[in-house]
Amino acid sequence: MPIGIDWGGTSIKAAIVDGANLRGFSRVDTDVSAGPAAVLDAIAALVRVLDPRTDAVGVAIPGEVRDDGRCWKLPNVPGFEDVNIGAELQARLNLPVGVDNDAIAAALAERLYGHGGTYKSFLLVTLGTGIGGGIVLDGNVRRGAGGFAGEIGHVLIDSTPEAWPCGCGRRGCMEAYAGTPGLLKRYAEFGRHLPTIKQIADANDAGTEEVWRQLGVALGTGLASINNVLDLDAIVFTGGVANSLPAFEKHIRHALKLRAFAPPLAELPLVASKLGEHAGVIGAAHLPVDRKS
Ligand SMILES: [Zn+2]
Repeated sequence: MPIGIDWGGTSIKAAIVDGANLRGFSRVDTDVSAGPAAVLDAIAALVRVLDPRTDAVGVAIPGEVRDDGRCWKLPNVPGFEDVNIGAELQARLNLPVGVDNDAIAAALAERLYGHGGTYKSFLLVTLGTGIGGGIVLDGNVRRGAGGFAGEIGHVLIDSTPEAWPCGCGRRGCMEAYAGTPGLLKRYAEFGRHLPTIKQIADANDAGTEEVWRQLGVALGTGLASINNVLDLDAIVFTGGVANSLPAFEKHIRHALKLRAFAPPLAELPLVASKLGEHAGVIGAAHLPVDRKS
């Protein structure tokens, strides 16, 4: 059975994956300051411990993989620019290795074992510190020319000079308002600092309602433009905040109605992923291993 790896800025999660089921799971912290070789060694060691007889490995990474297998710079992990993670791991493990962006891997899992059973064309939206996405059109996960397809967080939703700055260095991106730092900032404007969205949800006060409004309006405004182009069957939300979708769905819908080119484009189902926190490792295990590396 293949092993799926979901690697982020804080940890490496690995699982033996049987369809949509995990047969073994392991997790270690990522020491990003140690450099690419140490991270790749840690991933290889995790694979050997989990199942030395596995026949294939798939890795979901926090960044984009270009068509030639080299990754683009990883925003939260220094030193990986131009590193061919697939080839590096193949050399360490002597196994076929597939590598792709974590949101694309999660979209693949959703396509195989989640809402993909109901909707042929959908966008998976990952809600967290950043806003990412994976596009499935007519049943196929789309990577685009350079692996950037579905990188939706930096769609412009405010072009005024007062627009909020984004982590990408520009202003007015959807992520600046809908990502965790932007939501925490909005809540703090109500005179009280809370460090997590979970705590803000639990507080359930006027600030919480304003956070849900900002999140929904930002997402709805950006997603309206995206759906004007893609004409999807559904939008699927994942990440911790997706559990609170009923609290901000009405704001997304309202913004969609304001911005959609035609009424049907504002009426698509908005749903939470069925796969939860393991979508990344499940999708990773199913990444194609025959792409160039
Ligand atoms: Zn941005």
